Amino acid sequence: LMELKGVSKSFRSADGAPRLVLDDVDFSLAEGEIVALLGKSGSGKSTLLRIMAGLIPADAGAVSYRGRGVHGPASGIAMVFQSFALFPWLTVQQNVELGLEAQGVRPAEREARADAMLHLMGLAGFGGALPRELSGGMRQRVGIARALVTNPDVLLMDEAFSALDVLTGETLRDDILALWDSSRIPTKGILIVSHNIEEAVMMADRIIILSSGPGRISTEFQVDLVRPRVADSVEARALID
Ligand code: ATP
Ligand code: MG
Repeated sequence: LMELKGVSKSFRSADGAPRLVLDDVDFSLAEGEIVALLGKSGSGKSTLLRIMAGLIPADAGAVSYRGRGVHGPASGIAMVFQSFALFPWLTVQQNVELGLEAQGVRPAEREARADAMLHLMGLAGFGGALPRELSGGMRQRVGIARALVTNPDVLLMDEAFSALDVLTGETLRDDILALWDSSRIPTKGILIVSHNIEEAVMMADRIIILSSGPGRISTEFQVDLVRPRVADSVEARALID
């Protein structure tokens, strides 16, 4: 679905010297899988996601999506942010429609698709609310609805659950897995970035680790999982607790 080959990225530090953040990263996201990317703070996880989303360019290497180079935001790839990144002056409905506006979808269709997505994310009836009127969990549901309304093939989630309290995060996680398992969303691959091992184990089919300074994918630490389906996950969580 997506492939990264030899991706490197430097940023200029305060003293003006370039500092390598990603060093020759190879990674691929296959159709049908959820991959969790773990790594210490500063290892370059968000940078890697932003490169995959086409929000920033890599210095070297190639990023491709279904065999075509990614050189900017591509329709088919959507991202969810830790801080929700909602526009506070726009309603929930308007925030969700934004993703479609960028794609030139007509207003009537935008409204219908946003409505359907809000319904799917458990936000029916909240379209007219402003983000500040919602709880954190609901705000992130809006962030996810805005990403999913474009029917993305690839969903990139950057610590999407870490600003939420544990129970709210788990519920949202299970809701997303339920949509994924039942194919009610057309998304074909999900990459989640997390600090949280339990979250990675509960969600992913495969865990990879970005080692820090500068970030590389350490293949020796790759873990393949048999993810419990949602029906089993309540039981699985009871085992962890
Ligand atoms: P965290 O777990 O804290 O979110 P991360 O793994 O997502 O960390 P990144 O946000 O990708 O790490 O940042 C990696 C490094 O690159 C950090 O040292 C950060 O300061 C630096 N960095 C990221 N973006 C920029 C930027 N736009 N300009 C300069 N430095 C940057
Ligand atoms: Mg980050």
